[in-house]
Amino acid sequence: MSESNPFRAEGEWLKCQFHAHSLCSDGELPPDSLADAYYHRGFDVLTISDHWVMTKVDGPHGLLVIPGAELGVDPVGGPMSPEFLAIGIDEVTETPNGDPVNWYEFASSSFKTFATFDDGHAYVREQGGATILCHPSWSGLPQEAVFAAKALDGVEVWNASSHRENDRGDSSYVWDLAFDADITFAPCGTDDSHYPTFDVDDAWTMVRAPERTREAVVEALRAGHTYASNGPVVHDVERDGDAIEASFSPARDVWLHSGWQDGLGLSAGARGRRDGAEILQRDVRGLITHARFRPPDDVEAERRTSRWWRLVIEDEYGRRAWTNLV
Ligand SMILES: [Zn+2]
Repeated sequence: MSESNPFRAEGEWLKCQFHAHSLCSDGELPPDSLADAYYHRGFDVLTISDHWVMTKVDGPHGLLVIPGAELGVDPVGGPMSPEFLAIGIDEVTETPNGDPVNWYEFASSSFKTFATFDDGHAYVREQGGATILCHPSWSGLPQEAVFAAKALDGVEVWNASSHRENDRGDSSYVWDLAFDADITFAPCGTDDSHYPTFDVDDAWTMVRAPERTREAVVEALRAGHTYASNGPVVHDVERDGDAIEASFSPARDVWLHSGWQDGLGLSAGARGRRDGAEILQRDVRGLITHARFRPPDDVEAERRTSRWWRLVIEDEYGRRAWTNLV
């Protein structure tokens, strides 16, 4: 993954949905109705990610449809088969190399597995696609499985369906485990929608791409030029030495996270400790729109330049955006 700031990358931000199911697997809407629903919610990009089947549909004018699927691998250190999204592929093999003991039929498709994440990722990469680790928290993935997924391009930091279903939508802790092991996943937010549109537009991935093409979006995903959101908009993030400045839609709280071992977490919110965080601008209602973080002067030099940083922005309704800085 390249180490460039997505907010300085060439192009425009595209609102993308990479995880949605049609009646070709366990969703309830025909593919064209699902595409219409995303078009009307203002999405720029949609991948219909049915389980182990390619669902191809022409998007309504202005909606870029990138073909893909939700695939799986044999269990790693736990009972459940981990799943991942394949974005930008044209076919799904009927004979992956996983153990058929883990396969089963369900809804109008089937569940199969690759033997390992590396095998699954290589299969997708051969077709020019990108990969995203699905709902680690919902799948109960142990640390071993997260590390085994290191070849993948992104992670679902937020999966709205998992949140709705059993409050396991937030996988940001898994993202941190990966960072601490020097694995940098692009942050993704998804709907994982299945039903007649009441579960559409709850979470999305913003991708900064130089063109509205399948190739450009896949390349940007691989490069980590994304942020995840279920509400807030991030306008800009800039790193200047050990200082980080960001501007965003009106927020109640903003947190800067870093490595566990580095131990730095700074809050610009009304309720957090303010050491090292400065609110530069508020809107007329007092919500934060621009903040600057800099570790307090008594923090030792080696902890000032953490190996990784990430920002969480939370609005007054508790909706969040997640972005990392490299
Ligand atoms: Zn799914």
